[in-house]
Amino acid sequence: MESPTGTYCSIVIPVSSFRSVPFSWFLSELEDIRKACKTLVGYRYDNSHYRIRSISGQEYSFMFVKAPFVTNKFSINVWDARGGANILDEPFCPDSQGKIPIEIVLQIEKMIGMWEKGEALCCDCESKIKYPQDVAGRYFAGFYCASCWLGNTGRYKGKGGWKLVEARETYN
Ligand SMILES: [Zn+2]
Repeated sequence: MESPTGTYCSIVIPVSSFRSVPFSWFLSELEDIRKACKTLVGYRYDNSHYRIRSISGQEYSFMFVKAPFVTNKFSINVWDARGGANILDEPFCPDSQGKIPIEIVLQIEKMIGMWEKGEALCCDCESKIKYPQDVAGRYFAGFYCASCWLGNTGRYKGKGGWKLVEARETYN
């Protein structure tokens, strides 16, 4: 059977499994499942469509990234289902049992809980804001409070803020 062009499978995992499944499972088995899905539907690209499902049934995209040049260090990124907003970007090392540390799992659950109440953390200063009402501006999947956007706080403090960074971006 042939699938329509552009068809893909998402792999949806209950967020609670982050507490119990060994991290190595996420790295190896998940990749095998992705490849099997790719073959199954004839998907051409290598993007993963990993999702976590919250208790309320909402889905989020996630990805693990290995830190370059260091063994056993990773970060997890979580986005809203459309990938438009980065709601978590957290570095971690697997714990002594090879699991995702409980503090990280709690952080994921906390951020998802906030998101579902219409709240998020500014992607720079991490202050709590109402989403999307308090978002002053966006840069790719990042979103910023008014203060970081205008350069009163954050990484580009006194340098025009994220507003200037975004204005200089050509998106090419
Ligand atoms: Zn901020």
